[in-house]
Amino acid sequence: TNPLYDGLFGIHAAKQTPFLRLADGSVLTHQAFLEQAAQFAHVAGQLGLKPGDRMAVQVEKSPQSLALYAACAQAGLIFLPLNTAYTVDELTYFIENSGASLIVCDSAKQAALAPIATGLGAKLETLDADGSGSLTQKAEGLLKTYETVARSGDDLAAFLYTSGTTGRSKGAMLTQDNLLSNARTLVDFWRFSEQDVLLHALPIFHTHGLFVATNVTLAAGGSLIFLPKFDLDKVIEELPNATTMMGVPTFYTRILGDGRFSRDRVQHMRLFISGSAPLLSETHVQFEDRTGHRILERYGMTETNMNTSNPYEGERRAGTVGFPLPGIDLKITDPDTGNTLPDGEIGQIEVRGPNVFKGYWQMPDKTAAELRQDGFFITGDLGKIDEDGYVHIVGRNKDLIISGGYNIYPKEIELVLDEQLGVLESAVIGVPHPDFGETVLGVIVPEPGQKPDLEAIMGAIKPSLARFKHPRKLVILDDLPRNTMGKVQKNQLRDRFKDMFAAT
Ligand code: ATP
Ligand code: MG
Repeated sequence: TNPLYDGLFGIHAAKQTPFLRLADGSVLTHQAFLEQAAQFAHVAGQLGLKPGDRMAVQVEKSPQSLALYAACAQAGLIFLPLNTAYTVDELTYFIENSGASLIVCDSAKQAALAPIATGLGAKLETLDADGSGSLTQKAEGLLKTYETVARSGDDLAAFLYTSGTTGRSKGAMLTQDNLLSNARTLVDFWRFSEQDVLLHALPIFHTHGLFVATNVTLAAGGSLIFLPKFDLDKVIEELPNATTMMGVPTFYTRILGDGRFSRDRVQHMRLFISGSAPLLSETHVQFEDRTGHRILERYGMTETNMNTSNPYEGERRAGTVGFPLPGIDLKITDPDTGNTLPDGEIGQIEVRGPNVFKGYWQMPDKTAAELRQDGFFITGDLGKIDEDGYVHIVGRNKDLIISGGYNIYPKEIELVLDEQLGVLESAVIGVPHPDFGETVLGVIVPEPGQKPDLEAIMGAIKPSLARFKHPRKLVILDDLPRNTMGKVQKNQLRDRFKDMFAAT
């Protein structure tokens, strides 16, 4: 047996039902998709890959690139998708770090990566956005069935690099069971079925697009509207054909900002889900006003897939990420003692369950420090549990500001700033200060066409915040630096303003 392949892919092997509907309207059936995957599994075998070997993939999103995931599952290989934005230098690090036996890249990168492949003794093949390349050439004419390699649930299925929001990306080692258990839990929790058509405009090198959206759909036997990227025109055009959508908060703000978007385009939809970054309460409210749908916000990460979700039925509470999913324990602990804190108090979020990864690839010290003996993983996020059991994310441990001995949670100040006249959004960071160690800096993004009065804002927020939380200064930026998943890159902001209060 091979739990992951059997559970997500094998069950559909003989089905003529649609799996991927592409941007040009063409449809790929489950069967056709799996035949392509089987051919890729044969190619990997011909190139000398053995079960447990790693396949590093940095290519544009296409049915073929997704089929490589299925091929790895079937052949017992470890799938290692890499961000398409990585430069050759960055890629070199990840490929060398991962010790991949096969590298699949687009043809534009082939020449630059050839020496690295040679150095590693790895094979190098190409796959372009249109599905062409040396990989598909080699696959042509090969058998469309493949004898599934036996694996256990505890075997590794993928290495997924984290987004690198708080430092260098880490390779999270995920087992078959990690992926499969989460997919099954989410099918039940979010009521996915064969009838579901999920609008998929996410990249497939992050857990959100690859594992959450795709695995849930596969486990339920549904289909994907598979768009290469978030193209607003295309998304608005395709919404009437979908039953559900998963997206990052910026997808929702962009949809709301488009005049062509109307209620009747989404009346028939069953579910909108948001994650990867905090959904502004404002977006939540506006979306409901415009559509009658309450976005369901959930919380997860590369190392654990999904941890919590707002309820399918029952109140989807804005500004929270809902409850721990069935089978997953979540607790809030004191960072100094590790002791569990009472509800309502802010501390580090720890999770335990079948979803929790095996550790960071080649980082035994970090793994030992963050993955406790009793199975709890210290997520690096700070949060609290409210009186009704909803989990609130308060920010990243690394973004905590310690000023003059006080702990300051940026989110608390951001929420107040966001309320102010002319403010679209804000980011609060700690910057070095000669007297206090760190001090508070507020970065404000104005609403389009507005010029917020910083002095008036400072005056207005002070009554709502204890003195030690008052920003020392406010600055205006046109945009916050974000990555493709909409995560604010506070490292960049800290770097940019690090000398602001330097001693002279
Ligand atoms: P790195 O670990 O390399 O610094 P990263 O943590 O951003 O990067 P991911 O695993 O892609 O990498 O992202 C997971 C993180 O995203 C979570 O730890 C959390 O901080 C954030 N996140 C996910 N969903 C939500 C949400 N609904 N609300 C707030 N934050 C969220
Ligand atoms: Mg992280």
